[in-house]
Order: sequence, then C-alpha cells, then structure tokens
Amino acid sequence: MGVRKSIPLMLALLMMTMSFAGCFGGNVLAVKDNRGIPGGLTLACLSADKYTSMVVEIDYESGYMPEQSSVDLLKTRLGEVCDKPGGINVLLTETNFEHSGSWTADDVREKGWMHKSNQPQTGSTLYWQAIFPSTGYENNDVLGVAVDASTVAIFKDAVEEAEGPFFSRPSAEEIENSVLVHEFGHLLGLVNLVYKSPVDHEDKDHPGHSNNEDSVMYWAIESVNLRNFITGELPDEFDNDDLNDLSGMLSGEIPVTDQLWLP
Ligand SMILES: [Zn+2]
Repeated sequence: MGVRKSIPLMLALLMMTMSFAGCFGGNVLAVKDNRGIPGGLTLACLSADKYTSMVVEIDYESGYMPEQSSVDLLKTRLGEVCDKPGGINVLLTETNFEHSGSWTADDVREKGWMHKSNQPQTGSTLYWQAIFPSTGYENNDVLGVAVDASTVAIFKDAVEEAEGPFFSRPSAEEIENSVLVHEFGHLLGLVNLVYKSPVDHEDKDHPGHSNNEDSVMYWAIESVNLRNFITGELPDEFDNDDLNDLSGMLSGEIPVTDQLWLP
C-alpha cells in the first residue's frame, strides 16, 4: 500500500466466523491537506514546546454519550505521555450530526470537522476530537476509526453488540474504554504510523498495530480474535514498547514523519 489509509478499528461479533481486513483496509485515501494523517500531531501532543494545554472534544449524539470511565481513562493515558502543564480538559457536547445511514471514513472527517469547536492547532492549545454518532460504520463490525491527525469516531452500538452474551466476556464499558484509548493511540502515531520503531513490535499481519496482547494497540482487539479475551481482561494501556517509541520520538532518537507541527 503506497498511501496511508484511515484506520477503522474492527471488532467482530463472537459468533461471526468470517474475518475482516485490518485497520488499514478501508481503501480511503489520505487527505493531503491540513487535516493530516493519524499520527500527524504526535509531536504536538508529546511536546510542551508550543502546545502547553490540550482539549479533547467529544461530540456525541443524544443517547450516545461516552462512559465517564472512558473519558477518565483517556485523560489518564494521554496525561501519561503528553506533556501538557496547562492540563488536558475534556469538552463534552451533545451534537446532532444530521447524518442518516452508516458512516464512511470520509463522513467522519467531514462531519467531525464541521462540528469542531476549534482548529486542532489553536494558539497554545491542541484540540483532538472524538465523535460518537448514533449510527454505525459502513462495516458494522467496526467499533472505531481514526481518520486524520485529530479526529476519531467511536460507534457505540457496535461496542454494545460486541459485549456478547457470556458472563466472562468484557463488558461494553470495558470495550469502550479500550477502543477509545486505542484510537487515540493511533493519533499518537502507534504503531509505526509516522516512524519506525527500533523494536519489532508491529504485528506483521496487521499494520499499525502491536503484536503484544498486553498493549491496548494489540491487533486482536479489533478482530474476531477478541474471543481470546473472553476469560481475560482487555488491555487498556500502552506497553513499554509503545511508551519507548513515544519517548524516542519526543527526544529525537526516532525520526518522525508527516508532522503538522515540529518542535
Ligand atoms: Zn487500530
């Protein structure tokens, strides 16, 4: 693939046996404009040189507000890696996207940008956005997508369906927790989206994802292989390889490409 694709996060239902293309299977061309690609604002997040504070804008349709635990976890995970002395604030806004039917990655970009409260790079504040629409992705097994440098979407109905009927299966709330952090992990460039890790932890069959089942960037979170987690816990944090990649990018040890802002 010569062109960056959007990053649908897929998670198949337990009973489904067909397999799906990975996160990069969407055949959506990268937007060659100031929206960038997932990972295009990685350094803007990691560094405090220009962006000293951050706002995570969550625009949700009525009935689709994220769980408080997802919001709290996202703030925690971003705070662990992004240097924002002015703080990371979450701005929750009920929104009507006036969109009927299912969503494509292009729809997420268009409607997301239409409803952003600010440009992603505004003064010394970095704005990242998650939208929670009331309808699903075109492939309704997709739980979330990261579509450019500042925009992700979470499809709550698919998250609910993914919970499944079994007692020991991760709850919809736990799945939402992990999916939200996973998508923002793509905005942080993980794995190998805007750099090449010195450690071989990208799954060879699932580009842009970790091969470590204890990383929130693990590929199987978004596939029928979620069944592997039925009796275990879904990872909801970055592993040491992910964290070392981020600190290597920040220090300059690891070259970073496709950035909308450079220190
Ligand atoms: Zn993914």
